[in-house]
Amino acid sequence: MFEEMDKDFILHSYGRNYVNFTHGAGAKVWDDQDNEYIDFTSGIGVVSVGHANERVSNAICDQAKKIIHISNLYLIEPQAKLAKSLVEKSGYDMRCFFANSGAEANEGAIKIARKYGEVDGEPKRYKVITLKHSFHGRTISTLKATGQEKMHNYFGPFPDGFVYADDIDHIASLIDDHTVCVMIELVQGEGGVEPQDKAKVQQLAKMLKERDILLAIDEVQTGIYRTGELFAANLYEIEPDIITVAKGLGNGVPIGVVMTTLKDIFSPGDHGSTFGGNYLVTRAAFEVLEILDGYKNSGGLDASLFYFEKRLHEFVEKYPDIIEKAVGLGLMRGLRIKSAALLSALVENAFNEKLLVLKAGRNTLRFLPPLTISREETDEGFARLEKAFAATKAS
Ligand SMILES: *Cc1c(COP(=O)(O)O)cnc(C)c1O
Repeated sequence: MFEEMDKDFILHSYGRNYVNFTHGAGAKVWDDQDNEYIDFTSGIGVVSVGHANERVSNAICDQAKKIIHISNLYLIEPQAKLAKSLVEKSGYDMRCFFANSGAEANEGAIKIARKYGEVDGEPKRYKVITLKHSFHGRTISTLKATGQEKMHNYFGPFPDGFVYADDIDHIASLIDDHTVCVMIELVQGEGGVEPQDKAKVQQLAKMLKERDILLAIDEVQTGIYRTGELFAANLYEIEPDIITVAKGLGNGVPIGVVMTTLKDIFSPGDHGSTFGGNYLVTRAAFEVLEILDGYKNSGGLDASLFYFEKRLHEFVEKYPDIIEKAVGLGLMRGLRIKSAALLSALVENAFNEKLLVLKAGRNTLRFLPPLTISREETDEGFARLEKAFAATKAS
């Protein structure tokens, strides 16, 4: 019944799977037939502290009963508290602007870079260099910032000023007098869970600083402890000028943030958002950060990501005929599969075993479990993955 309703009334922009989930707890979700699934996707890196997290649910309920929204024309206490917490935990001397999604956070980053290029001397600069296998969002300008050609079908004309480098090594040769910013992911998510080389990133950061070109790190997927540190930039030991955040910050409430060291780049009227950073989402996100900060400091996060990686490597050894190699960092992991057909079979077989997993790029089986996934949930997920691999191998 709801499947028909969905098909009749929702635009068909997703390859949608018609299972009707009704509730969750931790890394588990249940459908309307009461089937239990293990969630190794956390809703594409969003539900970082688990489904129906009690502390987050309580914060949301408490806030909803008081006030949800008043607009950015007034002080919003939980927004100020969240910004302070993000900045202090990051170790970077930055200020925040709150938006509602990753794409919008990246729009903010592009606007910051463009304004910097406009006011920072002559000639005026506007070009942003991104990478070919990047993903930065679905709005017109973040689509254009996304280097993957297949994303540029239809929808033109796009805004000018985006240049694509094949990889980090290729960036320097693309810089000209109009270049103002380089925007990259430190682990490409949609592009195939591909971590960049730390030494090369550090070298890039140094070169850009010398040439007064901004470095923007898209941490929409890597941010909020996904790679083991608050930001992947912390792990790579670099000091970006701009960081964008979204997915894992709100545990499901829609929130995006652009953070920058250019503390006075915007004047009133330069940028805005009706919903951005309202009471509800910033109160929830503040709670998420508190939970994860405690989890990290207790050693729980490191233990959990170490264990997940160890379990994945068992599969690399056991199924050399299906898997090329393991990729990724922290709890942003992938198995590079030998063919796209095998990958599709694996995802389908996993689903039949009631395990949710993701694809990335052409041939990567992707895992983004809740950061707080328990040992028992991890083991249960891998037991199901084992069955999916066995079924794929047999067919
Ligand atoms: C998901 C993602 C985006 C887009 O975020 P939305 O919230 O879907 O707009 C941008 N950049 C990266 C790296 C992402 O993974």
